[in-house]
Amino acid sequence: MRYFPLFLDIKEKPVLLVGGGVVAARKFSLLAEAGASVTVVAPRLGDELTIALERGALVHHAREFSAADIEGAWLVVAATDDRAVNAAASAAAHAARIPCNVVDDRELSSFIMPAIIDRSPVQIAVSTGGTSPVLARLIRERLETLLDSSLGPLAAFADRWRVAVKAKFADIGARRRFLSWMLTGPVAAALRADRTAQAEALTREALENTDSLPAGHVVLVGAGPGNSGLMTLQGLRALQEADVIVHDRLVSAEVMDLARRDAARFDVGKFVGGGGAAQEEINKLLVEHAQRGEYVVRLKGGDPFVFGRGGEEIDYLRANGVSFEVIPGITAALAAGAYAGVPLTDRRYSQAVRFLTGNSDEQLAQFNYSDLAAGRETLAFYMSVGRLAALRDQLLAAGVKGDMPVAFIENASRAEQRVLVSSVEGMHRDAVMQKIKAPAMLIIGNVAKTAAELQWFGRQAIATA
Ligand code: SAH
Repeated sequence: MRYFPLFLDIKEKPVLLVGGGVVAARKFSLLAEAGASVTVVAPRLGDELTIALERGALVHHAREFSAADIEGAWLVVAATDDRAVNAAASAAAHAARIPCNVVDDRELSSFIMPAIIDRSPVQIAVSTGGTSPVLARLIRERLETLLDSSLGPLAAFADRWRVAVKAKFADIGARRRFLSWMLTGPVAAALRADRTAQAEALTREALENTDSLPAGHVVLVGAGPGNSGLMTLQGLRALQEADVIVHDRLVSAEVMDLARRDAARFDVGKFVGGGGAAQEEINKLLVEHAQRGEYVVRLKGGDPFVFGRGGEEIDYLRANGVSFEVIPGITAALAAGAYAGVPLTDRRYSQAVRFLTGNSDEQLAQFNYSDLAAGRETLAFYMSVGRLAALRDQLLAAGVKGDMPVAFIENASRAEQRVLVSSVEGMHRDAVMQKIKAPAMLIIGNVAKTAAELQWFGRQAIATA
């Protein structure tokens, strides 16, 4: 360990900043955010520091640096473009044993500044030991995306309850369990949903009833179409906090790899297709685990509310008094459009897009296909590869032209993706010939013809016409 990391309290402490340009201004704002009393020594100030001076946010000595300036300072930061001046500041600070940072100059610095992720009161500092500030910034960006903005309020909330929790739990193990519940379960969810009063009430109630289990929580998470990069950051956070994950078969192994290692996992894919009883089993499983105080993630392919039975599940949760959240996902139609190069509402070809499913021939017969026939609409069919002959007949009977383009996108966004471009007339024949299988989306409309040319991902599209 080359550098010793620490967080310094410089609130209202004198800090000397040598230099008045843009680099100095950047350092000034960090120091000011931490509440330091900054004195700037520089013959001239740039625009930003001039504005700060006018606000009364700093003291300015308009002259060259001299060694006496460091007197009384807790820290010295040198940010001039003249190395001799920086070296003089560094030498003076060194002689007086005052920590000194020269921007972008490790040799002259006795401390270096990290890249910072600020979710105050939570702060994360990243350092590469001065070897690569750019790398530190890249690392910072990655972490930044993982830590959503509710982290700050969550830490402040935990701090407010610290004394009460400590008084209630003498045993450190029990206290940790309670805090971990508070930081991941319904309390954290209420804070994310901007319901502070509810978070307070839940915490109070749980502290008053410590002999019974605190309430659990269910999060419906949309896993997207399978490519793990297409999950939301909120979804990823939920997966990493989960005690229990209840997932469908459609959820890819790649996505499951992102989940917390010691979460219990239930693959309920085998229930699906079993009718209402199967859904009843899933509902019960969710409630049962939530009632044990666990953080349950119900992970679904695509979006939970698009042909995903998410509505039935939250009805059941509410009826059983279980708190829940819903995190959307990228639904298959959108992924298929993007990954096959089919802009679903390209205004040159279409003014609307409809998500449909053809569970039965009767259902297929109920839809109105006149906008599609008129070339104004795009249809995105889910779960329909088993009903192509019936669908073709319905479309033709509704006056849709036989050469209206159709694109099949099988395993959209995954390494195995296949795209087949066909027509209404040929769709059944071509899909059978190419052995198109679920999961596949069927996109019908004039926009679909571009799939053969604009497809940019994975294998080349198969064009039949
Ligand atoms: N809730 C899901 C849909 C579930 S229904 C969503 O929003 O995407 C299951 C159907 O979704 C499949 O039969 C298929 O038509 C479609 N589907 C899901 N993932 C897919 C993928 N990666 N590629 C193509 N189609 C997909």
